[in-house]
Amino acid sequence: MIVAIDGPAGAGKSTVARAVAGRLGFRYLDTGAMYRALTWLACERGVDPEDGPALAALGSANPVELDAERWVRIAGTDVTEAIRLPEIDRLVPIVARQHEVRLLMRERQRELAALGDSVIEGRDIGSVIAPQAEVKVYLVADESVRAGRRLTERPGIRAKALTVDLRRRDESDAPQMQRAPDAVLIDTTHLSIEQVVEKVEALVAERRVTTSGRG
Ligand code: C5P
Repeated sequence: MIVAIDGPAGAGKSTVARAVAGRLGFRYLDTGAMYRALTWLACERGVDPEDGPALAALGSANPVELDAERWVRIAGTDVTEAIRLPEIDRLVPIVARQHEVRLLMRERQRELAALGDSVIEGRDIGSVIAPQAEVKVYLVADESVRAGRRLTERPGIRAKALTVDLRRRDESDAPQMQRAPDAVLIDTTHLSIEQVVEKVEALVAERRVTTSGRG
């Protein structure tokens, strides 16, 4: 079974996706980390973040490695921490909107999704990467709450700067944000992580009943 969790930055995707994967014993795939790792490598190698073909060649020669503990490696380097820096936040939407990059990532993410039961988080999972996903969720939250969550993750940055960055990223990510028409919308503004996780688990359980009823 595939559980697709999409939504904007700060809506709670990573925390919820990781918790759901842990409880169900599913693999967890953070597709944002894949775009971030490629962006980091492009900076290191001086590749223009607007040069789609060069980025795709770089990504193809250096596949991102991920594991369930959130550890991310590319080109032999552990980039788990580095890919969360503000500079990467700023550049990743530019890299992510290059057509050649999306094609490469789509192929790789589909391969990973085919490995078995997974919770996959991103922007276009339920619509493009895994439209066959049995459970599709789209998380949203008010901007102030999203900025507050980011502040906890990035304590060194001023709140105002974070809100501006978030708004900028929303605008840059708009073309990639493809909500599947059949995704269940969950507004996490007033919900705890536990409550969101329970809602997703309930959707999984519901889906399992429907599927077994059919068989
Ligand atoms: O989820 P996260 O904030 O780590 O994603 C980083 C960036 O990667 C997003 O801002 C977006 O530009 C890009 N992304 C994407 N498609 C995905 C996942 C992430 O374009 N499926």
